[in-house]
Amino acid sequence: MDKMEVYDCIIVGSGPSGLGAATTLISRDPKGKILILEKNLVSTGGLRNDCKMNFTYPIGFPLEYWTQEEADLYLDKTIKDLKPDFMEKNNVSIYTKRAEKLGVTLLNVRQTHLGTDGGLELIEELTEGLKKRGVDISVKEEMLSVDEKKRSIVTDKRELGYKNLIIAPGRQGFRFLQKIMDSLGVPYMDHIVDIGIRLETKVEHYPIVKDYYDPKFLFPDKVRTFCTNSGSAYVVKEKYLTAQGDVYYSVNGHAFSDRRKTNGLVNLALLKTVTLSEPLASGQLFAEMLGRQAMLMGGGKPLMQRVGDFRLGKRSKRESFNNDLYDFKPTLEGASPGDISLAVPARILRTLWKSLKYLDTIVPGILHPSTIMYYPEIKLYANKPGFQNRSFQVKPHIYMIGDGAGTSRGITGAWASGIRAAVGVLEKS
Ligand SMILES: Cc1cc2nc3c(=O)[nH]c(=O)nc-3n(C[C@H](O)[C@H](O)[C@H](O)COP(=O)(O)OP(=O)(O)OC[C@H]3O[C@@H](n4cnc5c(N)ncnc54)[C@H](O)[C@@H]3O)c2cc1C
Repeated sequence: MDKMEVYDCIIVGSGPSGLGAATTLISRDPKGKILILEKNLVSTGGLRNDCKMNFTYPIGFPLEYWTQEEADLYLDKTIKDLKPDFMEKNNVSIYTKRAEKLGVTLLNVRQTHLGTDGGLELIEELTEGLKKRGVDISVKEEMLSVDEKKRSIVTDKRELGYKNLIIAPGRQGFRFLQKIMDSLGVPYMDHIVDIGIRLETKVEHYPIVKDYYDPKFLFPDKVRTFCTNSGSAYVVKEKYLTAQGDVYYSVNGHAFSDRRKTNGLVNLALLKTVTLSEPLASGQLFAEMLGRQAMLMGGGKPLMQRVGDFRLGKRSKRESFNNDLYDFKPTLEGASPGDISLAVPARILRTLWKSLKYLDTIVPGILHPSTIMYYPEIKLYANKPGFQNRSFQVKPHIYMIGDGAGTSRGITGAWASGIRAAVGVLEKS
């Protein structure tokens, strides 16, 4: 039988948290034997989709795991690794004053936007750089299970030994991570979820994006704007599977770099954070139920409704989707015109609508009748393993990081989580 290959560190997932960990490990221990496993051809998260990066706490840094000092320390390191070119912002004080009058906060965030095409180039640059420094990257290889006693993992191709294991499977690896935690006996909580809508409108109806690429508004009742895209901007859908194998879609958005011709549209998410407690404590199950309900109403597709129809209490119809005031085509072709209020729980819809009215007061125009509301946009990220220390260790020699483990909510927080776990690995070695 072949002898099992053993690595100093195996990193599962080539998203920003995995790449951040690998970059730190190889920089501090250039002789270290490191392997990154990626089940796809290229990493699947935000680095390759839109690649908008926020470098200001608390954006992307869950407060339960990050103090301002910790985040600032690791953000400095993240900036050194990713070398962002920060975008200019204008007129922020005008919008801030308007927001403050309503009890709304506008965060002033350092940002950069590479676009989906620019993100792919960055991934190429980062992974090629790691390979040159001796890191092994194996794509199309999926980790299936771990044997803590043997210190080995099984993939769909082989068995591999590790001295340390960093698991960073992202939001789509949510269920995989739960399976691994169950097998290791790691306790976890999954009681938080973000539910919301994605808005799409003409740039002239949300002109703030000319001053501030991705403005972060925080409204009362835990509602916030998230992931604003403009220039060459599109709404997309992501496929999710429930435990029973049912399919549901969550919408999302992205834009290409400013090298592409603009389509004159902007899209952004408005999300409400829902924290569940007894008796239903699973954000995942809640999200799956809402996702399936939306699919039921939309014939297996996300729903879309024009604000004008919503205000009149009418569903949107295919034929009403391209005339008079409804004068731009939805960029997401695979969505069904309908009535989102039949699918969104009343409490969530009420707070989203109230926040939209505030937003329309701060940036007049977003509630133009033509604005499209897509539903659902669901963010699952709060697996929250029971960590043993500040390095996101869950068991001896095993670490869990990134959006899937709830240590981040964005590219930069994920990268910083990777650095923090890697520093923990190096300190213990
Ligand atoms: C469409 C989209 C657009 C986004 N846009 C932005 C944005 O502009 N800015 C921003 O800050 N954030 C954005 N995000 C969020 C961002 O993707 C995440 O915050 C970030 O990528 C999390 O990094 P991660 O390393 O935890 O996970 P990911 O980036 O999701 O990477 C995890 C990787 O692990 C791999 N994997 C999973 N399971 C296994 C396994 N068992 N074996 C091997 N490999 C596995 C996956 O294929 C994946 O490549 C976006 C997300 C999506 C889905």
